[in-house]
Amino acid sequence: MPYPVTRFAPSPTGLLHLGHAYSALVASQLGDGYILRIDDIDHTRCRPEFTEAIYRDLEFLGLPWREDPIFQSRRLDAYADALASLRARDLVYPCFLTRTELADVLSAPQEAPVATDSAISAGEAVRRAEQGVEPAWRLRTAAALELVGELTWRDLRGGVNRPVDMTTHGDVVLARRDIGTSYHLSVVVDDSLDGVTLVTRGADLEDSTHIHRLLQALLDLPSPAYFHHDLVRDPTGNRLAKRHDARSIQTFREAGQTAEDIITLLPPAPDSLPFERDF
Ligand code: GLU
Repeated sequence: MPYPVTRFAPSPTGLLHLGHAYSALVASQLGDGYILRIDDIDHTRCRPEFTEAIYRDLEFLGLPWREDPIFQSRRLDAYADALASLRARDLVYPCFLTRTELADVLSAPQEAPVATDSAISAGEAVRRAEQGVEPAWRLRTAAALELVGELTWRDLRGGVNRPVDMTTHGDVVLARRDIGTSYHLSVVVDDSLDGVTLVTRGADLEDSTHIHRLLQALLDLPSPAYFHHDLVRDPTGNRLAKRHDARSIQTFREAGQTAEDIITLLPPAPDSLPFERDF
């Protein structure tokens, strides 16, 4: 059976840590190699030296990627086209809330944990639009769900088709005002452009898969299968974060550890899928 097409998609906002090494290892083993995608849409946080560090760490770990790396920052037109297609069908709406207003709405206990722009009057929204304030764009989630009907995504960890459940997501921001796109919109466009057939990533992103499946249906994109792997935790049981350089690959390397030493610190990575699927 041919291998699935997998990808490893780090953001160059910090050094890779053991959790990233595990993601890359899972993508590599399940896909017999992987596509490397640099998730660098957020120009406020991404830095080229972290991209260089990603190459260095992956080479050191013996996990080479397949082709030239892909950069999200070079695909902004494709994301804009996807947004335009949703706008043309009135599936998104502009949200003029400032960051502070949004934070206020989200901290108000009587509000649903998902804000819309209902916190400002329609007149105020028009005023801000006329002043040239760039809006964020939010999905009309209820309308979108109605349009696509019953929807599931293929969970190859659990071996089931999982129903899309958007209850905790609300009207998701698909385009931030400062970058014109979002993580969610970009990854579904990318996975389709790159022909990814199996998305492997940490269990912390499983919740996002519901959004991604919905967007694939709305944009008429193929839906890959998903394998959400366990998270690597620190000795106290917390998940690793980029700000904790102590668990970074670079720190281990500089301390004289080999790639094998580092891989031994990771949970065993599956080298075949627990469930069959044609890729
Ligand atoms: N760029 C994302 C991250 O670093 C991962 C994207 C994905 O795997 O879908 O968390």
